[in-house]
Amino acid sequence: MNPRIVSLFVGALALAQSVVAADRPNFVVFLIDDMGIMDTSVPFLTGEDGTPKRYPLNDFYRTPSMERLAGQGIRFNQFYAMSVCSPTRISILTGQNAARHGATNWINPDNNNAGPQGAPDWDWEGLAPGDTTLAGLLGAGGYRTVHVGKGHFAPRALPGADPSKIGFDRNIAGASFGAPGSYFGEKNYGGLGKRTHHAVPGLEKYHGTDTFLTEALTIEANAALKEAARSGDPFFLYFAHYAVHSPFDSDPRFAANYKDSGKPAAAQAFATLVEGMDKSLGDVLDHLEAIGEAEDTLVIFLGDNGSDAPLGNQHEVACAAPLRGKKGAHYEGGMRVPFIAAWAKVNPDNPLQKALPIPAGAIQPQVANVTDLFPTLLQLAGVANPPGHAVDGHPLQTLLTGDADDSRPRQFLMHYPHGPHRSNYFTVWRDGDWKVIYHYLPDVPTHGDLIQSGGARYQLFNLAKDPFEQNDLATSEPAELRRMMEGLIARTEAHVARYPLSDDGKTRLKPVLP
Ligand code: CA
Repeated sequence: MNPRIVSLFVGALALAQSVVAADRPNFVVFLIDDMGIMDTSVPFLTGEDGTPKRYPLNDFYRTPSMERLAGQGIRFNQFYAMSVCSPTRISILTGQNAARHGATNWINPDNNNAGPQGAPDWDWEGLAPGDTTLAGLLGAGGYRTVHVGKGHFAPRALPGADPSKIGFDRNIAGASFGAPGSYFGEKNYGGLGKRTHHAVPGLEKYHGTDTFLTEALTIEANAALKEAARSGDPFFLYFAHYAVHSPFDSDPRFAANYKDSGKPAAAQAFATLVEGMDKSLGDVLDHLEAIGEAEDTLVIFLGDNGSDAPLGNQHEVACAAPLRGKKGAHYEGGMRVPFIAAWAKVNPDNPLQKALPIPAGAIQPQVANVTDLFPTLLQLAGVANPPGHAVDGHPLQTLLTGDADDSRPRQFLMHYPHGPHRSNYFTVWRDGDWKVIYHYLPDVPTHGDLIQSGGARYQLFNLAKDPFEQNDLATSEPAELRRMMEGLIARTEAHVARYPLSDDGKTRLKPVLP
């Protein structure tokens, strides 16, 4: 071939590649640790007329970037996560419910934390090289895939602890553990002090500086975005903040905003972590615009479990008020999380946005959950799920456009065959307006507290009439209780869920009908 033709040919190839890149959206999954649906100034809950309703916590927190994102996209008010960290994270990457993938508890990096009567065959080992993951599939499909922040996918001694071994091209600061040693650069993010086993790796250049962990991760994430954009390939940034998980280190940049709030010091510190996370969101949105990728980038913002704000008792209406309960609990406050989806910059003429128009400032009331991200992003990327990999989630596209989707079940299963945590040895089944909670071992001490269930093995709530779970109908609605338990049993069996042990450790405690 003569040189001119070669050059034309190469030019045409480059053009074809850039067309391919622009044909597919970039994805930013912005995952916040331990952030519940009420830890924000954005009202997610709605009043009886279906419009957003503010509660006092919405006026305590300051999240202007979330307001910006919610204003240009859609937020869900019944979005569910698992009640603790690792199960949700592995559900996002696999599309499977925790009852199926088996990592039903948070992964302790150094000890199997099944619990005294916990399912001994739960998947403490988490994700491993070779497992089918969203990152691996998108990477094989031509995406640049970057992990920033908290991993928590596998124990310390196993390769899956490193996100670059389970499908991501790059890992920045991800490791086996869930909580950072410290948020302070002055403490080397845990490298100095008593929490060196949780020292956040890979951020050495910030050691000894006053760069707060959330800020350091943001700088690194934006640099990675720039590099990915330069490649011309579409990208998938999984940005999992360590914030707002404990330790509740007060971010000095924002502390003054809460000093007159009347809230306890720990709650004020928690609010500074929330605000720092929110600044990070705004910085990423601005950066996407600066590098020319904002219109082509779908941003999905969500929390990984219910709120852990240090306010009040875990089974009362307190830190997730008006919802009952908090992280780890079987009440709605334990597993309802904020979820916002938006194009990073709205342009109705952009072809990708024409294909997936997301209404501005909208609320989606239909039930959805963390397993739905996997099929959604794969479908948008035009990447097939491999045969043999079961997926429990359903694509969110219809819901993202603001419509109802009658093809998807209005259901959610949350299976926790472990203890001790805030709630122990339970399975929750949501189906339509109803929610049943099955306690395998009623009234087990939980962090020194008791499950306030009146000794019942079942709790039943009608969330349409009683969204804050104040009226247990397990006794007064026996037919509904039975129907709901049939659904719970059918779904746990379909997932081949692993069950806790009896008191003598000899048998499995399977859920039983009332
Ligand atoms: Ca968490």
